[in-house]
Amino acid sequence: MSIQGSRIANFVIQNLKSPTMIPVSEAVKIVLANTAPLPVESIALTDTMGRILSEDIVADTDLPPFDRAQMDGYAVRAEDVANAPVRLRIVGESAAGAGWHNEMKAGEAVRIMTGAPVPVGADAVQQVELTRELGGAGTVEILESVETGRSIVRKAEEIKAGETVLRAGEEISAAMIATLASFGYARVKVGSRPRVAVMATGSELVGVDQKPARDQIRDSNNYSIAAYAELAGTTVERLPLAGDDTEELKSQISEAAARSDVLITSGGVSMGVYDFTKAALKELGAKIFFERVALRPGKPTVFARLENCLVFGLPGNPVSVAVTFNLFARAAVRAMQGAKQPCLLEETAILARSVKGSLDRESYLPAVLRTDEKGILLADPLKWGGSSDFVAFARATALINVPAGIKKLEAGSLMSVVRLPA
Ligand code: AMP
Ligand code: MG
Repeated sequence: MSIQGSRIANFVIQNLKSPTMIPVSEAVKIVLANTAPLPVESIALTDTMGRILSEDIVADTDLPPFDRAQMDGYAVRAEDVANAPVRLRIVGESAAGAGWHNEMKAGEAVRIMTGAPVPVGADAVQQVELTRELGGAGTVEILESVETGRSIVRKAEEIKAGETVLRAGEEISAAMIATLASFGYARVKVGSRPRVAVMATGSELVGVDQKPARDQIRDSNNYSIAAYAELAGTTVERLPLAGDDTEELKSQISEAAARSDVLITSGGVSMGVYDFTKAALKELGAKIFFERVALRPGKPTVFARLENCLVFGLPGNPVSVAVTFNLFARAAVRAMQGAKQPCLLEETAILARSVKGSLDRESYLPAVLRTDEKGILLADPLKWGGSSDFVAFARATALINVPAGIKKLEAGSLMSVVRLPA
């Protein structure tokens, strides 16, 4: 039989015994069950954005560490100013970083600044706008009374020393940086970044800097996978484009797998005559965990392990790539870093226009999220031409999850959506 003939025979056989489709939830479970955390590393606070905490963060001081003034004004005894206006003798000044550490007595006031320690004996701060300093005499007139405790944050009122304030497994956001800094975490323990290799396959592909010749297209998957993988905290190596040739695929896959924690290929996993990615993996002795998921788009997604490297064989269509990367590969690379929430968070939104589902597969349809004038979250499905319509997908901010077995969902339906990392 000619090579072409044997390929076609193979094609027919493959289609006759296609592996069973597994539900998305089961595929995610299989991915997580086969993903082990990477070692912990200690990094400088300045490098921690987006990394996953590997240690609980514990307060080493009370917050505030002393009774702290919340306003510029005068520390007073509330009792002394109950019948304001009253005049008090100014006995000192307490500034941030330079407190007045004596005892304030009846009839006295201490000029105080925001962030400064409140002297012993004072039990309230009257804001400067409600006072009048009487020139040169060292006397202040308090124009209005204040209640006990006004404008003072008591020592340890916010946080007590020894309290756990952030937990291992949380992703470090900009909002957390002040907390890490305030409790002295100059270095922070985080999960190591997974080393991800990306490899686009397909004899039609040329680089972004090339003008495609007849029958060719530019590779976009290596770039979009790299973008999503970096957002998920990994370091990415982009491999040279691989043609549809089992031997070429085998040598690139085995070399990349040897130096990577995760290899992500795109293309060559469907049922076409030239879809060789799975064959290459099998010939290399990879363990295939699944190769068909009841998912639209993204049915032919492959998950395998080759020695110590996890392999995701994503379909070639750029939209399928975005969906399958974020459902499966992202969960794996985040679990490797120790993330407590490796998967995209589900939210609920109202469908702004009707969408079509699929009878045998769960759909993840690109959408734009917005809120209406009542503050209700709406999901606007994108008008798109299918899994190759990456230009329409460029505006997507979320995916609408339509369960399998539903033909059509009407506008107004309550839907589960996941936000796309951006
Ligand atoms: P495949 O899964 O290899 O059958 O590819 C499905 C579709 O995706 C085909 O139209 C391919 O040309 C296209 N495709 C595959 N790989 C890429 C890539 N790296 N960048 C852009 N499009 C691709
Ligand atoms: Mg292909």
